[in-house]
Amino acid sequence: MRIDLHCHSTASDGTDTPAELVRNAAAAGLDVVALTDHDTTRGYAEAVAAVPDGLTLVTGAELSCRLDGIGLHMLAYLFDPEEPDLLRERELIRDDRVPRARAMVRRLREMDVPVTWEQVERIAAGGSVGRPHIATALVELGVVPTVSDAFTSRWLADGGRAHIQKHESDPFEVIRLVKAAGGVTVLAHPGAAKRGRTVSESAITELAAAGLDGIEVDHMDHDGETRTRLRALARESGLLTTGSSDYHGSRKTCVLGEYTTDPEIYGEITRRATGAFPVPGAGGPTGE
Ligand code: AMP
Ligand code: FE
Ligand code: FE
Ligand code: ZN
Repeated sequence: MRIDLHCHSTASDGTDTPAELVRNAAAAGLDVVALTDHDTTRGYAEAVAAVPDGLTLVTGAELSCRLDGIGLHMLAYLFDPEEPDLLRERELIRDDRVPRARAMVRRLREMDVPVTWEQVERIAAGGSVGRPHIATALVELGVVPTVSDAFTSRWLADGGRAHIQKHESDPFEVIRLVKAAGGVTVLAHPGAAKRGRTVSESAITELAAAGLDGIEVDHMDHDGETRTRLRALARESGLLTTGSSDYHGSRKTCVLGEYTTDPEIYGEITRRATGAFPVPGAGGPTGE
């Protein structure tokens, strides 16, 4: 069983539509794929309708949080997408991305970069708008060669000249809300040091005590030493460990199934979740 629990679509900053994502996941030989767009469930209906035979879709989201001044991403799986309190929190984060992106565009224009909000809006095409869309605009304008080259202190990296913070939720509150909506939480790429400061081990222990279910260990932004350290921490704190690609289509270099999650851990995630069921493609397995 090949299980990839962290992927983005055009509902946020990926480049595959939700239907293309599930088709590409099946073509890549995956048995299970999770749709985890930033701060939105908008891609669900299209993905659910397109799950191919032999693939199972896990619905989820990646929620933007902040703890002690450090940004962190909380993966949430199999929650009820209509539960009103969690829905309100997601909308709060997602909607604030628009004025924030507009402010980043203004900042860039002050730096004599001729980017426009209309251009960024076209690139985002209705998805949760974020820095990768602005980065794509900078690539189009020939300001930087690749999306990744826009994530430097010169441009859009955390604390960079054109970076503006977005609304980010309290992770303790998010864990509570996701649980109340029947979902399971996994802290995404907790050791991704190149993105900025990372959350401390004692903070992860506190999140575990507050009901966090797991941490993402096998991820492109973690080196071997970081994975070993995170695995030990997970054992001590009773956390599940996952592995995922964090696929963003052509906006990032990682490929579907680059890292995967152990089937037993996937089984445990599905057992804990009560808000939604994995969606098997017609005639496919049920998800365990
Ligand atoms: P935002 O949510 O708007 O703050 O943008 C953060 C997103 O930017 C992350 O979810 C990643 O998809 C993307 N990102 C962060 N760092 C990089 C990087 N070095 N190269 C490419 N994409 C990145
Ligand atoms: Fe992203
Ligand atoms: Fe993330
Ligand atoms: Zn992600």
